[in-house]
Amino acid sequence: MEKSIEVRNPRTGKFDYVIIPPPQKLLAQQCQRMRRAQVRWFTLGIEGRIEALQSWKQYIIKAREKLIDALIVDTGRLSMSVFEVDWLIASIDRWCMKAPRLLRVNEYDTSVSYINLQQTAEPYPLVGVISPWSFPLLLSTVDTVPALLAGCAVIVKPSEIAPRFMAPLQATLNNIPQLRDVLSFVEGGEETGAFLLECVDVICFTGNIETGRSVFETAAEQFIPAYLELGGKDPAIVLESADLDLATSAILWGAVVNSGQSCNSIERIYVASSIFEKFYHQLITKAHKLQFAYPTIESGELGPIIAAKQAIIISEHLQDAKVAGAVIHCGGIENINGGWWCRPTVLTEVDHTMKVMTEETFGPIMPVMAFKTVSEAINLANDSIYGNGAAVFAQEEQEASLVAQHIHTSTVSINDASLAIAIPEGETNAFKFSGIGEKRFGAAGLTRFLCKKNLFIKTKPIHNPWWFNNPMDS
Ligand code: NAD
Repeated sequence: MEKSIEVRNPRTGKFDYVIIPPPQKLLAQQCQRMRRAQVRWFTLGIEGRIEALQSWKQYIIKAREKLIDALIVDTGRLSMSVFEVDWLIASIDRWCMKAPRLLRVNEYDTSVSYINLQQTAEPYPLVGVISPWSFPLLLSTVDTVPALLAGCAVIVKPSEIAPRFMAPLQATLNNIPQLRDVLSFVEGGEETGAFLLECVDVICFTGNIETGRSVFETAAEQFIPAYLELGGKDPAIVLESADLDLATSAILWGAVVNSGQSCNSIERIYVASSIFEKFYHQLITKAHKLQFAYPTIESGELGPIIAAKQAIIISEHLQDAKVAGAVIHCGGIENINGGWWCRPTVLTEVDHTMKVMTEETFGPIMPVMAFKTVSEAINLANDSIYGNGAAVFAQEEQEASLVAQHIHTSTVSINDASLAIAIPEGETNAFKFSGIGEKRFGAAGLTRFLCKKNLFIKTKPIHNPWWFNNPMDS
């Protein structure tokens, strides 16, 4: 059994919170209870499930301030904490609106005139969700809401690095018995996560590649589907014709929002050599205007680096680049009274021998590299094990789209950056090491929790021509 885990406060560096993972036996029993409750939950039908989720939404709205406060301590930042709670409220409405259509039973003719096909589906009974610390509430609920509407029970194990939001969130379920029985949030770390994989019928995992590989191996042993959403190293390509003011503003946002702690962060920038100098000077000027949210949380836009382990990686990448000859024009990481903070950091003289260009940094780091030809830019963008997202900037949308066709990533933002954070629409698949399977956007965000099933219905009482001893043969 996993021992109690002390939780660090990202602003002070102090360990001021404790979580107590449940014993494995209790967790296994809880999963059994949830499976039984799922049968009742599914029987409620989509109208009943929507009613329960709408009721949950009202309790979340009542608990909005408490949830925001807990997230602020978990993450040390303000506006993204507000965003996470409001995003959950909006996502309940969005999925409640879409679910009835997605769950409709469809009937089709088949190639055999007297046999119809009724396409129906059964939800996986128990979905496991394992989430990271970068957007603790959002990433614990992004798959949960559609899975519940699909008719599944859902057990969520958020990150042990940012778990304070769980108590107020769990409390919102107290007055909705149907939902409380099929949705729970479990405290714990690696061991609890690993054990959970043995108790569920499908797993949605968001985290890094190394953990994802281990989750995928266990899922294979358990013979359960695994949807993995893993790391990224999103490139931005700025073509010669691009609007520089627009490109620098969009890239700065894409690289620095949530202090770069987003799987869709822009982490490397390739700029046409003719506009290279102008581009990075403008980026530096804009980067200088952003301030730390310190000493008070309202002091600026930039929250702390939430996980101490990530601060080590950011420092390592910057040091590695510096030793190899990169020029760091602004920014850098520092410890202020126990918390780790990183200013928007612009680097040039970088290349693909450096970690900062090839490994996920997960901080507000903007290494900028010049290219001479468009095909060189495309090759550089594709020279990565990651395939989450990308951005392309050009005067004409068509010119950018043409380049986008050649970039091997799940999404490409044209004349903007990191739009996948803001627009959860459009089905995509995971590319390269950034994940496995259908991603959570578009209709698949819900339908991937259903086991599709065909009912073949004979509409005329006749013998099939392919049967043995068929009277039609004589
Ligand atoms: P992590 O892989 O260390 O942990 C993620 C979760 O997995 C945590 O809840 C952790 O307790 C649990 N876990 C750890 N070991 C486990 C095991 N063996 N079995 C089961 N569960 C286990 O990742 P992190 O440091 O929390 O998050 C940062 C990573 O998440 C980055 O790589 C980032 O790119 C990625 N991320 C991806 C997306 C996306 O949508 N693609 C979104 C946000 C973050």
